[in-house]
Amino acid sequence: MDLSEPLENYLKEIYEQIEEKGIAKVTDLIIAFNVSPGTVSKEVSRMEKLGLITRTRKGIRLTDDGMLIAERLVRAHRLSERLLTDLLHIDWIRAHQIAHRLEHVWSSDMLDVIDKALGYPSTCPHGHPIGNRTDSQGFKLSQVKEGVYIVKMIIREEEWVLRRVAELRLFPGTEIHLSKRNSAEVKVLINNEERGVEKAIADNVLVIPKNSR
Ligand SMILES: [Zn+2]
Ligand SMILES: [Zn+2]
Repeated sequence: MDLSEPLENYLKEIYEQIEEKGIAKVTDLIIAFNVSPGTVSKEVSRMEKLGLITRTRKGIRLTDDGMLIAERLVRAHRLSERLLTDLLHIDWIRAHQIAHRLEHVWSSDMLDVIDKALGYPSTCPHGHPIGNRTDSQGFKLSQVKEGVYIVKMIIREEEWVLRRVAELRLFPGTEIHLSKRNSAEVKVLINNEERGVEKAIADNVLVIPKNSR
């Protein structure tokens, strides 16, 4: 099925919302794309007619056909980011932006070639899983108690989040020691240096306890 780029973007956003929260919602699509409710409901009806999604009172789900397309797009996005950061040394903010365009370009067999060239990476540079090589289970840094953790994933790949996370050096794979917390921020030790992580950023950093790895 050949879909328009905007429709492909909707499918991918639905997939990522389901990945993150278990269900996708029209209200969250409106926020994600910053468009009017009318525009979103038109696109949602179109996807429903094409048999790509189903809707219930709880929210939106992908059909098998919708899932197949969304999985290809997500794989294309995450492999493109790896290609851009690992081979071309482009920073992870620009890599995410350029991947939004590249994800529509690669065919499945091209993706296999890229995957192989990159050595079958298990995540994108921001920690999101590629295929089922890893999961996206963990806890938000804003919700865990004191202890030693490993950064697993940056949840929303928005520029302001990625910029601050890079400043704090909270890259996926980094070991951190959560030493103190209050309602406004979390104090963490990274390489024995204490840093304050604001709540909005801590909400976007997924961690796992160190001993569980
Ligand atoms: Zn991205
Ligand atoms: Zn990414």
